[in-house]
Amino acid sequence: MSDIRIKTLEELIVLREAGRILATIVADLKSSLKPGMTTRDIDLLAEGLVVRHAVTAAFKGYRGFPANACISVNEEVVHGIPGARVIKDNDLVSIDMGIIHKGYFSDMAVTVGIGSLEASRQKLIDVTRQALLKGIAEARPGNRLGDISSAIQKYVESKGFSVVRDFVGHGIGKDLHEDPEIPNYGEPHKGVLLRSGMVFAIEPMVNMGRFGIKILEDGWTAVTIDKKPSAHFEHTVAITESGPMVLTE
Ligand code: MG
Repeated sequence: MSDIRIKTLEELIVLREAGRILATIVADLKSSLKPGMTTRDIDLLAEGLVVRHAVTAAFKGYRGFPANACISVNEEVVHGIPGARVIKDNDLVSIDMGIIHKGYFSDMAVTVGIGSLEASRQKLIDVTRQALLKGIAEARPGNRLGDISSAIQKYVESKGFSVVRDFVGHGIGKDLHEDPEIPNYGEPHKGVLLRSGMVFAIEPMVNMGRFGIKILEDGWTAVTIDKKPSAHFEHTVAITESGPMVLTE
């Protein structure tokens, strides 16, 4: 049985603050990306922003993760460790970041195209962002978890791409990962009933080719087996009586 925490209004207010701060940090990172930077440069900027906003980087030290943000380039799906990789024109750079603010977590990811992108790469970004919005639209009281999952899967597959199976979204609040797990594939009208006060990190990872992934020897970085590019968008979303409220914007 899953044990999904229903947040109080007071908790939602803090989560909203945590979401807004993270959205500001990610927007700043996004606008500073340019060819020639290393992924470590991006992480150093993230570190500075965390200090400036007086929050804590949620991933640093999480199960030993060594950086402030996960930065994944092209065939890297998720959990890329910032390092010496240099970003260049036509790259897809995914930034996934979480913060802790007053004891509460927010979690967000974006994929950014560097310079001029091949049309198929731009389409991958657009479809993944849109898939997240399709999933968010289903996050309302009375729906079931599978409505979120299947909306994402159906949209992505209708555009000729595939959804990653090995990583899923999650509940979030006082912990980074709370129940339930939120797959990006599944059956409509199945799974737990959604209720006002649930807070979810919904995060489709979409591959241009097949959905298979593997983990590199660093123990973290997930890459596509077919080496084709992948994109990732994530928002932290509260379910309210009047529908979904995106916290990370
Ligand atoms: Mg997440």
